[in-house]
Formats: sequence, C-alpha cells, structure tokens
Amino acid sequence: MTSLTPSEKALVPFVSVDHMMKLIHHVGLEDMLRGLAVYIEEDFKRWPLFDKTPRVASHSEKGVIELMPTSDGDVYGFKYVNGHPSNTADGLQTVTAFGLLADVASGYPVLLSEMTILTALRTAATSALVARTLAPKGAHVMAMIGNGAQSEFQSLAMKAIAGVTEVRLFDIDPAATAKCAANLAGHGLTVVSCKSAEEAIMGAQIITTCTADKQYATILTDNMVGAGVHINAIGGDCPGKTELAPAILHRAGIFVEYPEQTRIEGEIQQLSPDHPVTEIWEVLTGQAKGRVDDTQITLFDSVGFAIEDFSALRYVRAQIAETQLFHPLDLLADPDDPRDLFGMLQRAQ
Ligand code: NAD
Repeated sequence: MTSLTPSEKALVPFVSVDHMMKLIHHVGLEDMLRGLAVYIEEDFKRWPLFDKTPRVASHSEKGVIELMPTSDGDVYGFKYVNGHPSNTADGLQTVTAFGLLADVASGYPVLLSEMTILTALRTAATSALVARTLAPKGAHVMAMIGNGAQSEFQSLAMKAIAGVTEVRLFDIDPAATAKCAANLAGHGLTVVSCKSAEEAIMGAQIITTCTADKQYATILTDNMVGAGVHINAIGGDCPGKTELAPAILHRAGIFVEYPEQTRIEGEIQQLSPDHPVTEIWEVLTGQAKGRVDDTQITLFDSVGFAIEDFSALRYVRAQIAETQLFHPLDLLADPDDPRDLFGMLQRAQ
C-alpha cells in the first residue's frame, strides 16, 4: 500500500481535533460534506466487498461504548464511540469518538484521527445522501427535531446535498434551539424556530429526528406524519432507545444501513424480526427500488454503520496528504532488529 521505510511506517499520522477543525475550514464545511458523501456513496456501491458485523456494544446504565470495525480487504478501519445522553448535564458531550485506518497487508496503522467532529459530518453526509435519494421531488423544507450537537451539521448537509432551503427547528430545551438558530445564521438557510414538534413539521417534506434520550421515546406520533414525507430518524440508535411511534413504521417504506445491526439498535427493534426493510446500498446501486410514489412515507432508520466511518477516514487520509494537517505520532515500537524489542528497551535506559 505504501513504499515507506519501516521507521517511517512506525510514525502514524494523527489528526487532532485542532487539525480536523483546520481541515474543515481549509476545505470549506459544505464542500467537505459533499466530498464525504461522494466517498460514502462509493463505498456503499461496493458494499459486498466489506467485512461487516453489528458494532460491539458495552452498555451501562447511563450510556454505551461501542467499537465499529470493517475492512475492504486492503484497508481495515474501526471507530471507538460512546453515547451518553445525560453527559450534557455535566458539561460533557453525548457522543465522542476517535478512529483508525490500518494497512491490511502489514497490519500497521496508517491513520489515527479524532472522530467526534468527523462523526457529526459523516452522519450528516449520509443523512443527506439518503434524503437526496428518497425524499419527494422538490423537497426543500426540513423539520429538525432535536437541536443538539448534530443539528447544524444535519441542516447544512441537507442544504449542500439534498436541496433544503428552510429548516424548522424544535427542541424541548429552547436554549438548544436558540443555539442552533444562531449557529445557522448567515449560512444561507431560512431558519424558523418553533415551539412544538407539530409546528416544526408544518410544510416540511423531510423530518429529521435527532434527539438523545435512553428510552422508547415518541418524538413523532402517527398522526403527525402525512403522506409523502421522508423521515430521517437519527437519534434511535441503541437497544431501548427509539424516537418513532410503531404505527409510523407500519405505514413507511423502511430503508436501513445494515439490517443485522439496525434490527438491534434502530426504530425497527419495535417490529417483528422479519419485517421487510430495504438496504440503502441496494437502492444506490439500482438493485432495489427507492421511493415508489409521491404518497409513500420513506423512513431512513439510521443508526450509523462502520463503513460510513471507514469512508470518512479514507476521505481525511486523502485530504491530509495534501495539507500536512497532522502530527506524526510515535505510536508503534520500532526496533532496528524487529525481533530485538527488549534490546531497544534496554538501550533507551
Ligand atoms: P445532544 O445531546 O447534543 O442533543 C440532543 C438534543 O435532543 C438535546 O438538545 C435535547 O434537549 C433534545 N431532546 C431530547 N428529547 C427531546 C424531545 N423529546 N423532543 C425534542 N428534543 C429533544 O446529542 P447529539 O450529539 O445531537 O445526538 C443526538 C442523537 O443522535 C443521539 O441519540 C445520538 O446517539 C444520535 N446519533 C446518531 C448517529 C447515527 O449515525 N445515526 C450519529 C451521531 C449521533
């Protein structure tokens, strides 16, 4: 994969939070969202090539810590990510993450990166790629329910990729809505702050639910969802953590990333295990139908899958090669004689 010398291979490029922010400003947020969507679509289109497994989750009373591995045979990747809805009360984030790519041939890591910001970008790029594919023609108004850390990224990706021009915000915490509206000012979207979820969905062809609560929540009830809308359900992504009334699921065409994982974590954990769903990669490759008519409710039951993180890391790796926005990290022991690890330790004394 590379022609680096052994000691160059031992230095792993590390993209810190600071470097990630510089990279986003260097590329431009909306261009980066579009670029990520291109990489994600490319990888979705070669889906059968990848090693796939539901993520490995360690649940606790307050949250979950997960590992998300995958490989395309040449490159291996994983993400470490947590989800702790009560963290914000302590001044901590609900979701933080970092991730790694490695060369399958040698097993050596080739990139270590922050992924808290990158996860927000890749989730938004995936949402918008799917909305562009499934939302009704001409969709341009989105209700954004849950105005936390992901919300501005979701809104701007929908603008950059799916043609959204107006977002209608609602959160049970008015301070979150005020923060989101202020952050989105000047980004070319019409932003309407709403007092209820019902008000937010008025006139919206796309409804994004992106709330964080470790329970079977009902952010949308059946009577709130009219014919023809596209629902981008992001927040239900753990066993026992959902956002939609089951009746909505029975009326919708349901699209998922990887059914084996979504049946454990997604909205469809509320349905029988054989309820039909369509894998989004099959729609992108033309092997399955997307939206069938103007009246169909399409639901993207998003939980976030390892291949999206792999694509995002692949994108970052390509970008930093040009920008030098990384630290070479002394992560791997590098003895002159590969079998003399002990000698290297002794000489260091
Ligand atoms: P966050 O804690 O920053 O924001 C969540 C917001 O939801 C908060 O502002 C909160 O007040 C609001 N909220 C809670 N209950 C609500 C309700 N009933 N109605 C309206 N608003 C409500 O969290 P975040 O980082 O924005 O993440 C949001 C959710 O998205 C989390 O559950 C997270 O696990 C999930 N997520 C999913 C993916 C994916 O790929 N599907 C990726 C990242 C995050």
